[in-house]
Amino acid sequence: MEHTFALISLGCAKNLVNSEQMLYLMTEAGFTLVPDPDGADIAIINTCGFIDSAKTEAIDTILETAELKKSGSLGAIIVTGCLAERYKDSIQRELPEIDAVLGVGSYADIVSAAKAVLEKRAFRAFADNSAAVDEIPRVVSTGPSWAYLRIAEGCNNFCAFCAIPYIRGRYRSRKMENILEEAEDLAEHGVKELIVIAQDITRYGTDLYGHRCLAELCRKLSEIDGIVWIRLHYLYPDQFDDELIDEIADNPKIVKYLDIPIQHINNGILKKMNRRGTGDDIRALFSRLREKIPGLVLRTSLISGLPGEGEKEFEELCEFLKEAKIERAGVFPFSPEEGTPAEKMEHVPFEEAQRRAELIMELQAPIMDDFTRSFIGRTIPVLCETKDEESGLLVGRSYADSPDIDGCVMFEGTCPFGEFAEVLIDDAEDGVLYGREANA
Ligand code: SF4
Repeated sequence: MEHTFALISLGCAKNLVNSEQMLYLMTEAGFTLVPDPDGADIAIINTCGFIDSAKTEAIDTILETAELKKSGSLGAIIVTGCLAERYKDSIQRELPEIDAVLGVGSYADIVSAAKAVLEKRAFRAFADNSAAVDEIPRVVSTGPSWAYLRIAEGCNNFCAFCAIPYIRGRYRSRKMENILEEAEDLAEHGVKELIVIAQDITRYGTDLYGHRCLAELCRKLSEIDGIVWIRLHYLYPDQFDDELIDEIADNPKIVKYLDIPIQHINNGILKKMNRRGTGDDIRALFSRLREKIPGLVLRTSLISGLPGEGEKEFEELCEFLKEAKIERAGVFPFSPEEGTPAEKMEHVPFEEAQRRAELIMELQAPIMDDFTRSFIGRTIPVLCETKDEESGLLVGRSYADSPDIDGCVMFEGTCPFGEFAEVLIDDAEDGVLYGREANA
């Protein structure tokens, strides 16, 4: 008899890649994917457990799904991912509706878990979260013209506020030949944009090859026919070397958009948070990147209300943002994560951290608006992805827009989905550019 499963993927792009791997394994084993857990034999919930809000979302999703199980319209629940890993000792005690749990080193066991829950057998698997990365094929759920390409797992940086190294284990690079093979396969299936991800991509290769290999990897990825854009997410600021900067500057396939989470700019806070480098190092890096890479779009993430952040330190951060004019920025209020060194450090109340986060976003809004408006009158390449039925306009992204986090370009034209169009921009509003295909 054919069994069905629904898959709910929460959290970040790295988690989504694990969901895509489970999708592959389950469908290969003969299970049928359905869009809704209501009526399915199994619901797989791939959770995030990074910060409080993510944990709340994961628990709410499990509880909602448990209601379906209680009413008889869902057979069983399997919970995987970061929340499962982080609370492996207590998760089933706290949420007894869960039938099976897999940690972040055990995605390959999903089919065994599914078979077990169908037979009403308990199943738990928590393999070593610092073992070599499992090379599991996947069904790409993004795109069709773009896909994430995960190049490493885990993190060795141990920033004082972050639970990731405890959840996702030590930094492990994937072998370069495996990454290239996957990228070639993606290109053969029509992917034009690769979004290179890991907790920290700048460290790529150090564990496997004894030196940083991101520049070499990018060079080899750019030799793949069909790949037009390579986008780099999560570069650690102190790991840039000349080879990498030159590669980014000179390789036309690497989009001039870099996501470099800095978290803060104050020296005392950076030190306390176990971040390497000083505020001046970050200032110098940004100036150097802007000088070497014309048109560069910088994205960063920040944390407001970190331990050690008083009014003076917050003011320093605001002054830096006014000067640096970072085109894309996200900010989280500090959340003291269990088991991290920062949990025990003194800090402002959450409401104050939130207020500061809002002030940062207010400060950033005109900077981001000015940047968006700077495209008016220019003709830029846009990767066309879909059509907005209401307006009838095509929707795509420029190099300045990473999927799911940035804006988009809406334009008149005839460009097929998955192809590039040259678009003349004539308006901008709320992070969205409007224009028309130049040669339509
Ligand atoms: S670099 Fe720091 S913030 Fe980023 S995942 Fe690693 S420990 Fe966490």
